Amino acid sequence: MNLKNKKVIALIALIATISSPMYSATTKKNNTVKENVIENKKVKNVILLIPDGQSMGGLTLARWYNGGAPLAVDEITSGLVRTYNADTPIADSAPAGTAMATGYKTNTKYVGVMPSVTGMYNVPSISDENKQKPMASILEAAKLSGKSTGIVATSNIQHATPADFTSHFPDRNQYEILGEQQVYNRIDVALGAGYKYLLGENRKDKEDLISELKTMGYDVVRTDEEMKKSKSTKIYGLFADDALAYEMDRETNRSSEPSLQEMTEKAISTLSQDKDGFFLMVEGSKVDWAAHANDPIAIISDILAFDKAVKTALDFAKKDGNTVVIVATDHGNGGITIGNKDTSSNYDKVPLSTFIDPLKKAKLTGEGIEEKFNTDKSNIKEVMSEYYGINDLTNEEVEAIKNTKKGSMNYTVGPMISKRAYIGWTTNGHTGEDVPLHVYHPKNMELKGTVQNTDIAKYMANVLGVDLDKTTDLLYNNVINTITNKKITYTWKNDDFVNPELLIETNGKKISIPAYKDYYFVNGKKVQSKGVNVFINKDKFFVSKDILNL
Ligand SMILES: [Zn+2]
Repeated sequence: MNLKNKKVIALIALIATISSPMYSATTKKNNTVKENVIENKKVKNVILLIPDGQSMGGLTLARWYNGGAPLAVDEITSGLVRTYNADTPIADSAPAGTAMATGYKTNTKYVGVMPSVTGMYNVPSISDENKQKPMASILEAAKLSGKSTGIVATSNIQHATPADFTSHFPDRNQYEILGEQQVYNRIDVALGAGYKYLLGENRKDKEDLISELKTMGYDVVRTDEEMKKSKSTKIYGLFADDALAYEMDRETNRSSEPSLQEMTEKAISTLSQDKDGFFLMVEGSKVDWAAHANDPIAIISDILAFDKAVKTALDFAKKDGNTVVIVATDHGNGGITIGNKDTSSNYDKVPLSTFIDPLKKAKLTGEGIEEKFNTDKSNIKEVMSEYYGINDLTNEEVEAIKNTKKGSMNYTVGPMISKRAYIGWTTNGHTGEDVPLHVYHPKNMELKGTVQNTDIAKYMANVLGVDLDKTTDLLYNNVINTITNKKITYTWKNDDFVNPELLIETNGKKISIPAYKDYYFVNGKKVQSKGVNVFINKDKFFVSKDILNL
C-alpha cells in the first residue's frame, strides 16, 4: 500500500467516525417515521368494488344521464390502473381479477394461478415448476388472519371475478370446480346468482353442495325478502340460476331479486359483526356484458346501480373510521364514446339533450326488452315505440330484430339506440387502455398515481397487515413433488376432474386427500385442513403445509 492510498483510507475512516452518530440518529428517526406510517396505514376492513369492464366513456355517460352532478365514486378518484395480462396488452377478466386478488399477472382464462406464458413489461418470467401454481388471494389471507370474508356479484358467483378471490384453476369455465372450492373455502357471505352449479342433480360429481352448505351452518336464501330477514353470520344468497337481471329490468321482470346496493348493505352489516374485521369484494358484473353487447342503456343501468353500492360502502367506511374502500374496474370494454362518426364535423355544437334524450326514453335494457316481443315477433314496432320511444325503425332494423337469436337481443337493439344518441363503439370485445382508480383511506393514505392492477392486491395486504406470499407458502404446496422426492408410493382413486382423490401410504398411515375439499383422511379419520386441496392435473396437486408435514 502506498502513502497516497493510506491517506485516502485514513480520510474515509475520519469521515465515517464524524458522521456516524448523526447517521444513526437519522436512521432511528426514519425508522420511527416508517413505523408510524405503517401503523397509520393499517385498517381493520377492506371493501373492494369492481365494475367489470367499465370504460371511462361509460362512467361519463352514466353521470350525464343522472343529471351531471358527481357520482359517489368521483369523491375518491386517485389515479389510473394498468390492466394488461402477463403475456398480452388486453386483459381477460380471469387474469385481471387474479392480479387484483393475488398481486400476480397471469394468462387468459386463468383463475388464481400463476401464468404459463409471460413477456409483457415488468412481468417476471416463470419456471416450469411454478406454472399454474395457485396463489393465495387477499380474501384467503384475510380469512387466515381471523377476519370474516364475503363476495357479492350480479353474475353467478362462480364467474371469473368472484372466483379469482375464492378459488384456483386455469380455466374460468369450470364453474362446478370453482363453485366447489368456494363452498369449502367457507366464505362467510356469498350473494349473487349461480344456484344451479351447486345442485347435485346438475353436477358431474353428483354432490349436492346446497345441502352441504346447510350442514356447514349456512343460511341459504333465494329471495331479497329471505336475505333481509336472515340473522345468520353465514349466508349464501343465490337469487337466480345464472345471473341477476340488470337493475333497470329488475322491477318489471324479476322483482324478487335484491339490488346490488341491497346485497352490499347486507354483506357489510353481516361481516362487520366480526370484531377482527372483514374483507369484502363486490362486483357489478354485468357492466361488462352490456359493453360486449354495445348496449348503452344496460351500461347506464348497472353503472348507476354499482355507484349506489359504492355509496353504501363509503358511508359505512366514513362512519366506521377503520375501513379502506377501493373501486377499480378490471379492464375497459367496447370502446364507448360520447360522440361518434356522425358528430365528426359538429361535435362542439351538439347539445347534451341530443345525447341524453333518446336514452331517457328507454324503459328496459336490450336484455329486458327481449321477453316483450311475442313469439312470432309481430309486435316489433309497438314494443320499440312503447319501451324505447323509437318510432322511426327502418325496414332493415325490423328485419334485424326479427332475425335475432334468443339471448342476444341486446346486441341488436343496443346499437340502434346508440346510433340515435350518437354514442360510439369500437369493438364487442375488451380494450387495453388504463382505467380509473378510486380509493378511500380514513387517514388519507390512499394508493395513488398510475399503478399496476397487482399494486391493488399489495396495497390491500399492506393496509390489512397480511402477507400474500407467506399465505401461498402455507396453503399451496405441490404434494406430488414431495412424495416423489421422498420416493413414497401413491395411487389415484379418481384422476379425472370429477372428484379426484390421492391415496398415500407412509409411516404406517393411510392418507387420502380429496380434491377441492378443505379436509383429508388419516386411517379413515376426517381431519380439517387450513385450506382447500387444489387439483390442477396428475403432476400438480396443491395442499396446505399441515398435510405436507404428515
Ligand atoms: Zn372483466
